[in-house]
Parts: sequence; C-alpha cells; structure tokens
Amino acid sequence: MDRELENMYEKFHIDRELLTFAEEIESSLKERFEKIDRIAEYNQMKVIRAMQENRVSDAHFAGTTGYGYNDIGREALEGVYASVFHTEAALVRPQIVCGTHALAVALFGNLRPGDELLSPVGKPYDTLEEIIGIRPSRGSLAEYGVTYRQVELKPDGSFDYEKIRAAVNERTKLVEIQRSKGYQTRPTFSVEQIGELISFIKGIKPDVICMVDNCYGEFVETIEPNDVGADLCVGSLIKNPGGGLAPIGGYIAGKEEYVENAAYRLTAPGLGKEVGATLSVNQSLFQGLFLAPQVVSGALKGAIFAANLYEKKGFSVIPDGTEERYDIIQAVTLGTPEGVIAFCKGIQAAAPVDSFAVPEPGYMPGYESDVIMAAGAFIQGASIELSADAPIAPPYAVYFQGGLTWYHAKLGILMSMQKMKEEGLL
Ligand SMILES: *Cc1c(COP(=O)(O)O)cnc(C)c1O
Repeated sequence: MDRELENMYEKFHIDRELLTFAEEIESSLKERFEKIDRIAEYNQMKVIRAMQENRVSDAHFAGTTGYGYNDIGREALEGVYASVFHTEAALVRPQIVCGTHALAVALFGNLRPGDELLSPVGKPYDTLEEIIGIRPSRGSLAEYGVTYRQVELKPDGSFDYEKIRAAVNERTKLVEIQRSKGYQTRPTFSVEQIGELISFIKGIKPDVICMVDNCYGEFVETIEPNDVGADLCVGSLIKNPGGGLAPIGGYIAGKEEYVENAAYRLTAPGLGKEVGATLSVNQSLFQGLFLAPQVVSGALKGAIFAANLYEKKGFSVIPDGTEERYDIIQAVTLGTPEGVIAFCKGIQAAAPVDSFAVPEPGYMPGYESDVIMAAGAFIQGASIELSADAPIAPPYAVYFQGGLTWYHAKLGILMSMQKMKEEGLL
C-alpha cells in the first residue's frame, strides 16, 4: 500500500499491522472480485435493456399527487421491474413501507380463509412470525383462518424433500421460500437450488403459488427466482434493488393474477394498481435500480473481504471465506455480547452519517430479543448501505451487510476489527 493511502487509513486509527494483514487478504481475493465485476457488468446491461424496452424518458421522473391516476412514471417503473425480473407484471410502490410490508401484502392478497401457507425452508424471517401468527399477533394470517405449516431443513442445510412431500396437502395454496438466511446460520440458497425446490413442489401440486422472499438476493447472480419458476418474487427497495437511492418502497414481481391480488390488498378491492401517487420519488427509484448492480457488487466484495479477515482471526463465518455467494449478508459469530457490540461500534464509526453515534442494544418492534444495529445511512435503516445488526442472544453472531461502495465497506470492516483489537477481543 502506498504511503499516501496508508496515512489516510491512519487518520481512521487503523494500525499498520492490521493494514498489512488486510492487504494480503485483499490481494488473495483478486480473482473472486473479478468474477463479481463480471456479474455486475451483465446485470448492468440487463437493467439498461429493461429501461430501453420500456422507453424510459424524462417525463417518467415527474410524480403525481392525490389519487395518482395515470401515473406514467409509476407504470414505466413497474414495466422496467417486470422486464428485469422477466415477469408478466410488477407492483413497485413507495406506499409499500418496507420488505415486511411487501411480503404481508403478497401473502394477504393471495391467501383466503381455509388456505394453508407452507414454508419448506424452516423458520422464516423474524418479522414474518407475526404476519403468519407463529407468534400470536393482532391481524395475523392465523386470525383470518389461514393455517401454516413449516418443514425444517436437514441438518446439512438442504431441503427435506420427503417431509415437504408429506406437508403439501389439498389446502396448501402458497409456498414461501426465503432465499437469504436472514437472522439464521443456515446457508442462503442459490437461485438454481430454489428452482429445484420449485420444480419439486410444482411436481406435487402444479397450481400452488411459489413465492420467494428475495430480500438481499437481487443482482447477486445473473438470474433471479422468477427465471426458475417462481410465481412471485418480493423485496425491499431500501435493500439491493433500490441501489441506495430509493428513499422507500418495495416490489412484488410475478404472474399478473397474483401481482394484481397483491395490489387489491395494498390499496383496496376495486382500486388495485390504478391508484397510488408517486409524489416525487420516481427518479430515485429508476436511478437507484440503474445503480443497483454496481452497488450490490461492492457490498458483495465487502462481505467476502470480511469473511476472510475474520476467518483468519479464528472466528466462525457464514458463508465461509471461499464459498459462493447468493446474498450480500455476512454472518460472523463473535461469541460474546462484547464482541458483537465492539464490531457494531466499528461499523458505526466508519459511517458518512452519524459516525459520532454509539450503537447500543435495545428493543425493536417485530424482533424477539434485544437487537443492536449499526448504521450511518443516508436512508434511515437502509441495509444496502453499510450496516450491521445482531440479536443479543447466543451464538452472538453479527449480521453484516451492504456498502454503497466497496471502499466504504472495506473501511467499515477494518474499523470493526480495529475496535475488537483495541478491546482485547481478537
Ligand atoms: C430484510 C428482510 C425482510 C424484511 O424487510 P424489512 O424491510 O426489514 O421489513 C424479510 N425477509 C428477509 C430475508 C429480509 O432480509
């Protein structure tokens, strides 16, 4: 590393020893980083083509107000998402307040009393427990008479096909497959694996709706779940596809009928997709999607860098330093609450926004245990921006993700490790 760059890192109190260690690791990752760049190159063109096919123009950036009838920007954006995901339709709205809401809208829109929802991949993301009613909650699917069944993954993280076959019954209406590990230490599934699971389920019951929770997975690979048979794909715009610029929103892409069912739930029966003013966010949603492939590639490099750095220091990391990546999340098991807190402090101190804040564990709506979060983000809570969060519970694993640029991700990881070092936790 040249002297000038080293001096700059010193301004962030990163010591020489750590820098040298990190340099070695970074140079060993050159080939993997090149592979990530090629995926970004492919996805960049996929997005540009989608924008061209939908004749995106300056006029689409102006928003509507009130009911939002004839919002051509909204319609073009939904067309672009449908093109990117290769689906019949998409619902992409600032009125979808977060990923959990997008998933709730898709589920409530497509399930009716007496139907059964199946998760063939074990426990879903924490916030879904209340939507489904796994943890009793007001307004849950359970209260509306929708039942739920769950099939655990096998101990090695693979699908338990035998038990899945036994779980599918005449009431099974919708199967929810979560791509990313979320707050668990199971592996994230590749799009190809999801495709195999969907084929298996459709082989048992062809008319079942296969829905994928695609949070954190967008643009990590060159294909998306809809390319391998998913009927619905759902995600948040303050994660990957918003590219860091989308200030709010979620998307639901898939078969027209199912997307419309979701739209009738989001707005109202009879209104559906026809209303929903975009106010002044259209341009950010387009531009964020345009930048997303590049942003995701930076976040992925950060995750791989972190895995290798922490692995070499003896911590257990999932995915490990050499594994293929299917989402942007990196779990690092630090083993103690102190480790988790020091890690998060380091990430926070590297932020462009709120770097002076000190993260502390606390209650978070939708989560069962106290959670600590580090985020110095331009968009509140945006986890495509460099962020780390951890439930304060064994095995004391921190889930780290994002970084709008690779350089910021790198700085954050170095500062987390420096913090651990200073507190004698390495
Ligand atoms: C983030 C996430 C969600 C929920 O999204 P929010 O925007 O936090 O509500 C759901 N599922 C998975 C896998 C996620 O990563």
